[in-house]
Amino acid sequence: MHRLAIVGCGITGAVTALLLKQKMPELSVIIIEKSKGTGGRMCTSRSSFGNSVDLGAQFITKSSKLTNIQNRLYNSLLDEGIFQPMPNNIEGIKSASSAVSNFICPQGSGSLVKYFLEKAGCDVLYEHRVIKINAIKEKWETLCENGTSHEFDAVVLTIPVPQVLQLDGLHSYLESDQLEKLKAVEYCSRYAVGFFYDTELSFFKDIPWSAKFLSDDIIRFCAFDVHKRRASGLPSIVFHTSKEFGKKYIDENAETVRDIITQRIKTLFPDIPIPAETKFHKWRYSQVEKSYSGEPGCLVLSKRPVLICGGDGFTHSNFEGCVLSAENIVQKLLDVSN
Ligand SMILES: Cc1cc2nc3c(=O)[nH]c(=O)nc-3n(C[C@H](O)[C@H](O)[C@H](O)COP(=O)(O)OP(=O)(O)OC[C@H]3O[C@@H](n4cnc5c(N)ncnc54)[C@H](O)[C@@H]3O)c2cc1C
Repeated sequence: MHRLAIVGCGITGAVTALLLKQKMPELSVIIIEKSKGTGGRMCTSRSSFGNSVDLGAQFITKSSKLTNIQNRLYNSLLDEGIFQPMPNNIEGIKSASSAVSNFICPQGSGSLVKYFLEKAGCDVLYEHRVIKINAIKEKWETLCENGTSHEFDAVVLTIPVPQVLQLDGLHSYLESDQLEKLKAVEYCSRYAVGFFYDTELSFFKDIPWSAKFLSDDIIRFCAFDVHKRRASGLPSIVFHTSKEFGKKYIDENAETVRDIITQRIKTLFPDIPIPAETKFHKWRYSQVEKSYSGEPGCLVLSKRPVLICGGDGFTHSNFEGCVLSAENIVQKLLDVSN
């Protein structure tokens, strides 16, 4: 195996790339990503005047039972300042019984993915949405929406499971049992809204929390991003909607959804200043509600040529789940190539 593609430049793709380069330094690893940037659901959105919000993942929860690799990664992330302890003024947070500590990324959760990518040092093809894959003479050909095609000895898919199932040509490589189990994987949907301010305002000086979970039926979470990340800079706030709201409104007209969310924010925070910039984002595949049966970490769809899919759909939706999936992907690749 000489040339391998990882489809998806989220945290699973980036950690897989690093672990692969450590185990197989001679392998050429190329990441194919549909968006303009890295991060996937761990992305940090910036305003035109420089402040930012985490639109997806907010906190990293360290649990008590870690693999050696998870432990090693935590140590380097803390040593290098990518993780810092989470502030203790988070209102309404419910920690899992297995949680040992929580961390935030001072530079935003997108910096976590960038950290692994830089360490892996592999090329990323941005704005390349893979739409089809074909096996041709022991190789995979990936076809992208922009008309380009590329050949690889092995392909690893780290995209949400429903997006795997949308790939043209894939179904012919699936056994019926695998197809049924993939179809059974479920994600919740949410909207995220970022409010960016271009000046300091007294409203923010009086906020006693850095993030808070609400019992509202529309807005479930909000974070005052500068406080949450223990950073300095102009204020910004992010809001996440509830999964019930996401389910009901996921295919609704964008304007209607914006109006409902904005109205509810005003009701919940009547004194909130009007932002200088706003960013709305729809997470159709937000967090895994039902993982692939047995949480195997990843799934080998073909051994010759190698095709594997992984990501949080095969474990659970958090940093540790994605690292565990990446570990499993790399182990399976080593097994099939020996
Ligand atoms: C609102 C929200 C809050 C969350 N909060 C937390 C939290 O506090 N803590 C935590 O640990 N986790 C949290 N999570 C979950 C966490 O973000 C995910 O589990 C994790 O980011 C999944 O990473 P991934 O790499 O498996 O998938 P993704 O991040 O989805 O990465 C997949 C990548 O593939 C790309 N892609 C998709 N289809 C194609 C295609 N056809 N061709 C090319 N590229 C493609 C996408 O653009 C994306 O970049 C949250 C998620 C959301 C959405």
